[in-house]
Amino acid sequence: MTPLLEVDEVDVFYGDVQALFGLTVTVAQGETLAVIGANGGGKSTLLKTVAGVLRPARGDVRLQGTSLRGVPAHRRVGRGIAMSPEGRRLFPSLTVEENLLVGAHSGRPGPWGLARVYELFPLVSERRARPAANLSGGEQQAVAIGRALMANPELLLLDEVSLGLAPVVVGQLYAALPTITEQGTTVLVVEQDVHQALAVADRVQCLLEGRTVLEGPAASVDMAALSAAYFGVS
Ligand code: ATP
Repeated sequence: MTPLLEVDEVDVFYGDVQALFGLTVTVAQGETLAVIGANGGGKSTLLKTVAGVLRPARGDVRLQGTSLRGVPAHRRVGRGIAMSPEGRRLFPSLTVEENLLVGAHSGRPGPWGLARVYELFPLVSERRARPAANLSGGEQQAVAIGRALMANPELLLLDEVSLGLAPVVVGQLYAALPTITEQGTTVLVVEQDVHQALAVADRVQCLLEGRTVLEGPAASVDMAALSAAYFGVS
């Protein structure tokens, strides 16, 4: 069966600096893949390449077998790719509800709407009329995930959900993932917190300096090999 997402041997540069080196990432329909790795490994660059914010100098990104070459970021939402970016990037002066509605703007019809997102994150529901800037970091992260869901994506990209949040809050956010995947949504999550990544993912792929150093099913990963790969110890 054709995978939902194929990132096929991409090279990605920032000016003269190469961040991804012939990187291949494949995500099957309905699967949750966690891409892990230390700072600078290329995780955010990978997500930005899939979302269309960055263009590969070589290689291709395909969704359901169709190349996304030349499809700009805002049109990829309509193709079924939505991202909750690193740092959340909410509109601080807009209310929570307004931020969520922005997510629906160029999205698709589907199961997710305000009521569903509020059901998933009840705390967000209680804060719906407040400016996003007034929320805690964890609440803002929930809004960012909710905003991406409002587009009814086939593929949900989550960048560093845990960044700057207390472990208990991170756990609460990731507890929403099964409800999301039950809707048939495929998830590509980038995460520095290896234990969280292993807890939520079907498969993990570890990047180091823009290349894959280890990949496999989350349930049977060899922790010694993973920590060596993570830190680049051979
Ligand atoms: P982090 O967890 O720190 O975000 P990461 O695994 O997501 O790390 P990337 O942010 O994708 O890694 O960075 C990969 C490489 O690209 C690094 O060497 C980084 O220095 C470089 N890089 C990232 N953003 C830029 C940029 N805007 N300009 C130049 N180089 C960049």
